[in-house]
Amino acid sequence: MSSLRDMILAEVQEKGMRLQNSGNDINIRRNNKGANKAGSGLQELLLINRLDKLFYLRDHLDEDRAGLHASSIIVSDADLCYRQQVLSLLYKQNQSPELPVRLMRIFKQGDAIHRKWQDLFVKAGIAEEIEGRSYSEQYELYFTPDAIINLDGKKYVVEIKSMNTLSYQRATSHPSGRKQMQLYMHLKCIPQGFVLAEDKNTQEWKPFIEEYDPETVKPILARLNDIQEMKQAFLKYNEMPPRKCKKIDSKKSVECNMHDACWNVGMGRIRL
Ligand code: SF4
Repeated sequence: MSSLRDMILAEVQEKGMRLQNSGNDINIRRNNKGANKAGSGLQELLLINRLDKLFYLRDHLDEDRAGLHASSIIVSDADLCYRQQVLSLLYKQNQSPELPVRLMRIFKQGDAIHRKWQDLFVKAGIAEEIEGRSYSEQYELYFTPDAIINLDGKKYVVEIKSMNTLSYQRATSHPSGRKQMQLYMHLKCIPQGFVLAEDKNTQEWKPFIEEYDPETVKPILARLNDIQEMKQAFLKYNEMPPRKCKKIDSKKSVECNMHDACWNVGMGRIRL
């Protein structure tokens, strides 16, 4: 018969063995953890790489950009190139180069904020048009208001803009958004509208409400008329507005959607 002392010794030995074994387990697990960490780091990179590609997927409704668009007409005098606008009425555009994924993610976030408001307008039954693509034959201009809503029998053109916190807090209006909205108000004959500004970090939002202002729209329409005259001058007398870019490889030229047609390089001038 084993004494109490033997029994205790046996139990201590067994526990010691178990502890030693579990110590080995811990070491093995620790080593595995190191290897796993490296493995999961690699896995993480592969996953990020794979999913970042999703930001470049195009909707089945996406089509190649063609023609004159409202957003390119409301830019500053320094940025406006009449040659670019006339060419866009006649020739195929270079499609946008791939942007860095960092920017693609930011754009997608902006799209998501647009969709959120547009869905809410539809759910509430106040949406008259959501991204209704319109065309002005007079100016050969495509334009797409974010939304047209009807509140208590009054129609509003809505332009949705997401902003970072600092810009949002400082903003008392949205200069480019309001020009776009005023042009849409003119073309759609709707005398009220608002820029719906949202802070993309906090989801706070505020409307910049405006009545139709002919003084804002006048210079934009003058530009559109000039573009039509310049187009006719080109068709009749082969006179093209002068180049704004001094060099073919300047930043503005490289980023221009009419680069190939302007310099007659690459795909050159393909008629629409
Ligand atoms: S490349 Fe420069 S000059 Fe030519 S159309 Fe574009 S912006 Fe104008």
